Amino acid sequence: LLELNAVSKQFGQNQVLDGVSLAVNPGEVIVILGPSGCGKSTLLRTLNGLEPIQGGEIRFYGQLLDAATDWQRLRQRIGMVFQSYHLFPNLTVLENVLLGPLQVQRRERQEALLQAEQLLTRIGLWEKRHAYPRELSGGQQQRIAIVRALCMNPQVMLFDEVTAALDPEMVQEVLEVIRDLAGSGMTLLIVTHELAFAQAVADRIVFMEEGHILEQASPHQFFDNPRSQRARQFLAKFS
Ligand code: ATP
Ligand code: MG
Repeated sequence: LLELNAVSKQFGQNQVLDGVSLAVNPGEVIVILGPSGCGKSTLLRTLNGLEPIQGGEIRFYGQLLDAATDWQRLRQRIGMVFQSYHLFPNLTVLENVLLGPLQVQRRERQEALLQAEQLLTRIGLWEKRHAYPRELSGGQQQRIAIVRALCMNPQVMLFDEVTAALDPEMVQEVLEVIRDLAGSGMTLLIVTHELAFAQAVADRIVFMEEGHILEQASPHQFFDNPRSQRARQFLAKFS
């Protein structure tokens, strides 16, 4: 579905991605772990055209992603949710969710509305559809940001530390939405520091260090018996 071959990226002299190769299969849930600054966010951003790459290639359904790619179109198919939720403050929940389907995708209002209702109901926030973001908790806003991305019917979702900015009591409700998505068969790439969640939800763990992938393993193998010393050190910090 998504394929990275020897992807490299520099910021000036700083080699941030150094030959990253990764194949993501349909329906697979991959959790990317690694110390701060190892390139996790940058990696996700290259998949969405937010960071041009200097070497290697990225393919999506076999198609090369490069400068000629229609990134706006691609971003409808590869949804991304960040740590900070970026809802439009002057729009209601429903207007936020419908903006992409109506303005970007030019879909029928009735059809988009039906989907928005289904998705908002699924996360228990349909009653909040006329509220403004400031009237909602951080956890609610983040769940709506996820629904907003889902309303574009993406084939893949990228999550970059979506719970990192939340109060602890709101973390689980957001993770629950992602867990639900994982169970529904959607392809997910997740960067998180929630290790118990990672272990529960991942089909595969990718452990990065200094711009490259040091280790890839099943959650079972990675958490119980990591191969590399670096991964062991990383896990020890959390236990
Ligand atoms: P964290 O766990 O803290 O989020 P990360 O693994 O997501 O870390 P990245 O944000 O991908 O790390 O950053 C990797 C490296 O790239 C860091 O050294 C960072 O300083 C550098 N970097 C990231 N974005 C930029 C930028 N826009 N300009 C210059 N350097 C950058
Ligand atoms: Mg990051």
